[in-house]
Amino acid sequence: MRKIKKQIVIHAFTPIAKPINASIQKNSSMLLLGKLPYTNSSKTFNTKFYYIKGIRGMLRHACMELAQDCNIEVCHSSEKTALKDGKSVLPKGFHALGTCDPPCILRTIFGTFREKSSIVVAADPIVSIKHKEYTTEVPVQNVHIASENRIALAYDGIPIQDFRESYFSGFFSFHIDVTNLTDGEIKFLIEAMLYVEILGAGRASGYGCVKILNIALQKVETIRRIGEDSEGNYKIIEETTETPLTLSNIEGWRTSLNLMSGQGEKVVV
Ligand SMILES: [Zn+2]
Repeated sequence: MRKIKKQIVIHAFTPIAKPINASIQKNSSMLLLGKLPYTNSSKTFNTKFYYIKGIRGMLRHACMELAQDCNIEVCHSSEKTALKDGKSVLPKGFHALGTCDPPCILRTIFGTFREKSSIVVAADPIVSIKHKEYTTEVPVQNVHIASENRIALAYDGIPIQDFRESYFSGFFSFHIDVTNLTDGEIKFLIEAMLYVEILGAGRASGYGCVKILNIALQKVETIRRIGEDSEGNYKIIEETTETPLTLSNIEGWRTSLNLMSGQGEKVVV
């Protein structure tokens, strides 16, 4: 089996981010995936691993901002245009999700509630492993993960309302499968990285700042074949080769894409 795909790999750093899954009573926690065994000096340990929620939303938001800066009308996050009392909920520069014809660039890339997305955004799970050297069977990202006890309200120096939130801190990466995108759409997505700033909750308190460190566009070739292990069992042998790809003139997407906006003129109702 031989498969070829195109992906963007982004390396980033956050001093503290709270990509919160849900708030249960006084606790807000990250999405816990399960237990992961790892080995250090031939001993086996168990650690918990988590999923970084919100990366796709962070990217979508960045793309919306880039489109706004270029006066290109794109889909809003909701299909609603107004509240019951008639008050509009559509900010300037947006149309209701999925109402564009032809589809705007945001819809082409991210889809709608009913239409499939053209990209897949994913990240290896994060873990907090204290050992300096370790091996795991599946790829993981080692960061610092902990909980913070916070006091929301104090009276006369005595806390009267407190809560716990989990966070992670460190270097992390994520990747976007862009095999189904045109070069112009890939350039748009790459330029949108300039707008990536916040991941997760707590922006008002200074949490969630994300710094993009580098962006790589790659061709990924995967070859899988059936081999045999020493006991005669079939075994899948996989080889992956990543080759760097470069696209010149990133800002060129403005002219290479058939944008509905023309030269900043909005034609979508
Ligand atoms: Zn649209």
